[in-house]
Amino acid sequence: MSLDLRVDGPRWRHHLRSVAGSTPGLVPVAKGNGYGLGLGSLARRAEWLGVDTLAVGTYDELLEVAQRFPGDLLVLTPWRPWVAPLAPELRKRVIHTVSRPDDLGALTTQEPGARVVLERMTSMRRHGLSAAELWDLAPVARRRARVEGVAIHLPMTGANGPEVMRLMDDVVGAEANAVWVSHLTTAELSRLQSAYPDITVRPRVGTGLWLGDRGALEVTAKVLDVHALSRGDSYGYRQRRLTSTQPGGHLVIASGGTAHGIGLAAPSGSGGLRGRAAVAAKGGLETLGVLRSPYLLDGKPLHFAEPPHMQASMLLLPRGARVPEVGEALGVRVRYTATTFDSVTIS
Ligand SMILES: *Cc1c(COP(=O)(O)O)cnc(C)c1O
Repeated sequence: MSLDLRVDGPRWRHHLRSVAGSTPGLVPVAKGNGYGLGLGSLARRAEWLGVDTLAVGTYDELLEVAQRFPGDLLVLTPWRPWVAPLAPELRKRVIHTVSRPDDLGALTTQEPGARVVLERMTSMRRHGLSAAELWDLAPVARRRARVEGVAIHLPMTGANGPEVMRLMDDVVGAEANAVWVSHLTTAELSRLQSAYPDITVRPRVGTGLWLGDRGALEVTAKVLDVHALSRGDSYGYRQRRLTSTQPGGHLVIASGGTAHGIGLAAPSGSGGLRGRAAVAAKGGLETLGVLRSPYLLDGKPLHFAEPPHMQASMLLLPRGARVPEVGEALGVRVRYTATTFDSVTIS
């Protein structure tokens, strides 16, 4: 009964190596569900890549990676006063993110000499210090803590080069020896590094590293049952029925449901407005109020018969379509960061 992720190990590892090779100072990011692959697995892979630092999202995630990755651990979520003090053996390895002036005092009272990066606010407006706050805080931080650099978290719109160059004035003003950045292209990173040869650039990369070669990843569900459906038959929790003009077809019950993160909408890129409009224009299933699912049969999207259940999904196959066998694998398009797989196999 499962939703499975299979990774073509040689191809995936080749991709990881090539990203690491073209990204000097790379800091792999392992957070959340481990980009679908699991935090522990990513931590081991980071060790295999030979990087010196791994970033996690939250303090809770430290426990999942600390035994598997031996190097430094950067916590991306800024420290707040309610974070429990670190276990003594972690203190040497953990680099905190500080994004508010008052937090520096509170953190270093709890942990004198803590390793910190100071986060500068960006156009993201998520967390971070203003320019004035950063300039004021940096000398204080150098006295009370071990400053490991400035963090700059950028949006995903693509053109972050100009913004990062503007913010570098503040990094220089803070006398930081490193800048931890996200969402810059290889070209932007190398321009940044050559413009500031004395400041070490540390690109934090998750998606582009772990999920950057989608062809190395295969997600499948299993057909659990198939039932012929005649005109007028009702089905499902909602007891929908085919309309009188529907000639019948098949219900396909597939593994995978809301507990796995299977949602009503297929991830973007799997259809597009034009594709959907074309289906609707042909009087396709959308016009009957059924939605395209992320499941694929012979490479083509199937439609939900009704919203996904907790661990299974009911799909509606129009008459004339090839009817899959029980046990057959169906492809599934998922958002990896929002999916819980029953098994992850890396060859
Ligand atoms: C998640 C995250 C990253 C990595 O983002 P990807 O898009 O997965 O590469 C980098 N920096 C911060 C602060 C993050 O929260």
